[in-house]
Amino acid sequence: MDLKQLGEFGLIRRISREFSVPAGVTGIGDDCAVLPQQDGLSTLVTTDMLVEGTHFLSSDISPYRLGWKSAAVNISDIAAMGGAPRGSFLAFALPKGLDSTWTDEFVRGYKEASLLSGTPLLGGDTTASPDRISICVTVIGDCPSGREVRRSGARTGDLVCVTGALGDSAGGLRVILDGIPRSADEEALVDRHYRPVPKVAEGQAIAKAGASAMMDISDGIGSDLQHILDASGVGAEIDCKAIPTSAQLRRCAGRHGWDTEALAIDGGEDYELLFTIDPAAVDSPAFPCHVIGRIVDGDSVTWLHSASGRHQGYKHF
Ligand code: ADP
Ligand code: MG
Repeated sequence: MDLKQLGEFGLIRRISREFSVPAGVTGIGDDCAVLPQQDGLSTLVTTDMLVEGTHFLSSDISPYRLGWKSAAVNISDIAAMGGAPRGSFLAFALPKGLDSTWTDEFVRGYKEASLLSGTPLLGGDTTASPDRISICVTVIGDCPSGREVRRSGARTGDLVCVTGALGDSAGGLRVILDGIPRSADEEALVDRHYRPVPKVAEGQAIAKAGASAMMDISDGIGSDLQHILDASGVGAEIDCKAIPTSAQLRRCAGRHGWDTEALAIDGGEDYELLFTIDPAAVDSPAFPCHVIGRIVDGDSVTWLHSASGRHQGYKHF
């Protein structure tokens, strides 16, 4: 079958059917694989690729920012389980013509993003590529066994929350793709696009507070929330007016005629955390969350108070 027809998730399901996973181990389907150890900790493992032409254009992104992003998006998947990152592995294929100043700058960005959470580089692989740059990063981490927060635990009555403003990264991408001249606001959005900050401390605090489900926002809550709903067998009501956005995004939206709500819901790559939690658990004022809705019976999202008149959720049947 044509891979396009099969789709990314169809292909992953087809591969996943070929392997049975040992009891207690979580494999394909969440932000990380979870392997319980005998010492009461679970090992978390995640891996992601960035390919030139698919995920980035060398003409747009500096090697420093590419290095940052490569480390950050992987560490973010550990944060999404409530874990602590312990080390990373960097494998890349590089065209022979590339200069060592490129790799120096790449490593500088990779190191700065890694050191935010004290994640050391522990290994990797280096090889030549006929033309394109391709990068594969693996991060391992851990968390107390049973404390890892999966996508499948959301329950009716839980609050739906995010850790911070959404849509900045998508706004930054608009600035880049449309070639919009950059004042401080536009530059701030571009920086949010290229240098996302993985929410590691927040993820651990949210896990400790007893979140029922969590994932990081890589594709936008419009599709990411559905992953939690599918895995948990529930629906959600989201108050579009409660979705946090930054002042710089709102100013840029006014200036360039953007739909802030669409950027916040459908725009990806903010790498904030999306989670669900029992309302009784979010009393502390220090708790890192914006409540945007609640979990209800059902299987899809109802978008309430939408300024742009969003559809009222996708129905499977
Ligand atoms: P994320 O956006 O959190 O990195 P993905 O959407 O890339 O997650 O992947 C979804 C799930 O499918 C993950 O559990 C991932 O490990 C798994 N997966 C993706 N590609 C493959 C593959 N080629 N073989 C096995 N598992 C895969
Ligand atoms: Mg993820």
